[in-house]
Amino acid sequence: MLNFALSDEQKAIRDTVRDFVRKELLPLEPEVLRRERAGQVGFEPGVYRDLRLKAKSFGFWGLSTPESYGGMDLPAVTQALITSELGRTFIPFAFGGEADNILYNCDERQAQEYLLPTISGERKSCFAITEPGAGSDTRAITTTATRDGDEWVIRGEKVFITGGNDADFAIVIAVTDKEKGSNGGFTAFLVDRDMGWKSEPIATMGEGGPAALVFDGVRVPARNVLGGVGDGYKLAMEWILKGRYIIPARALGAAERLIEMALVQATTRQTFGRPIGDNQAIQWMIADSEVELEAARWLTLRAAWVVDQMQNPQHDSAIAKLYASAMANRVVDRVLQIHGGMGYTRELPIERWYRELRLYRIFEGTDEMQRLIISRDLLRGYRKVGQSLA
Ligand SMILES: Cc1cc2nc3c(=O)[nH]c(=O)nc-3n(C[C@H](O)[C@H](O)[C@H](O)COP(=O)(O)OP(=O)(O)OC[C@H]3O[C@@H](n4cnc5c(N)ncnc54)[C@H](O)[C@@H]3O)c2cc1C
Repeated sequence: MLNFALSDEQKAIRDTVRDFVRKELLPLEPEVLRRERAGQVGFEPGVYRDLRLKAKSFGFWGLSTPESYGGMDLPAVTQALITSELGRTFIPFAFGGEADNILYNCDERQAQEYLLPTISGERKSCFAITEPGAGSDTRAITTTATRDGDEWVIRGEKVFITGGNDADFAIVIAVTDKEKGSNGGFTAFLVDRDMGWKSEPIATMGEGGPAALVFDGVRVPARNVLGGVGDGYKLAMEWILKGRYIIPARALGAAERLIEMALVQATTRQTFGRPIGDNQAIQWMIADSEVELEAARWLTLRAAWVVDQMQNPQHDSAIAKLYASAMANRVVDRVLQIHGGMGYTRELPIERWYRELRLYRIFEGTDEMQRLIISRDLLRGYRKVGQSLA
């Protein structure tokens, strides 16, 4: 039997997070907007730390982290539900106790130095594969790591690295064997900032931009190779694929909240003596947004479900990311339109979402890369049309 209902446990978790967002995060929104209008990004780190500790006190800590490390080790579907609730606010909040999935490849010494302090929040990581000449085409990276005795020497530049302005270590993918390339010639390194890399903020459309990282002969001890020499491309793909249902889940929350704002506006804003929602033009924008939101919801939950079934999530995650990211962009555009001039101001969060959601169609694989994956799977027969019901 097909069952689209959530379990009691899933509902309880979702409702707890929804309450947390309503009580703790939504009241902070006007202040975040005010600060951003004054050129200050978000809050001081202490505010997020306190919020994370509050969430920890009622159990929300390390959603994806194994229980042996103090985390919740939640199924992907539950994580998608939680992420979607967090997406209902533009405040960039995430529960604490998390580490990049590939850091679980740390050996024992690396775990003490990198994994555990990242989970506890004492250290901050960033993940760096993109370069000025290699984004979608990850195989084209040219940053090199050359062995010199007990060390590797890294030279090159990484760009658009999320968290790269604050991270105290970077997980860097570099070429260690040019001949082999992505086929065993890339390696992942754990590189502390104080080993000598520099970061430079990149101003973007969104708030709190990424960084460019420069490695000018940075010397890294050989013991800081993550996984094995030659495993870098495999680890990078693992990092990119793991969370591909997370971006669409966040998009769902934003779209939900935006449609709710549209409903209020449609029923309260009067023109020509009646609410604007009396006009079919407005009703159809609301209807189309609702239909697309629901379509995106089931694609996203299915992608997360595939992860939980331990099946290869690539195809379903690509569909979910492509559709939900575009859906959220269409919804925010309509909701801005429904708000007229006020939608365009920085008094309301709509223009902020308009700018932020645009990124969802670019990072962790552009729309075009998702289409490439989906069509390649079908054309090469890795996947049959309609196979999702098999
Ligand atoms: C805010 C932000 C945060 C990011 N965070 C990180 C991070 O933490 N770590 C990290 O390593 N990277 C990060 N990235 C990089 C991001 O993943 C890349 O920007 C993205 O993969 C696209 O690469 P590109 O920008 O080089 O575009 P390009 O690869 O140059 O692509 C340009 C355009 O051409 C299209 N295109 C390219 N090839 C094809 C093709 N074969 N067929 C059809 N169309 C094609 C693309 O879809 C795109 O529309 C971030 C980027 C941004 C903007």
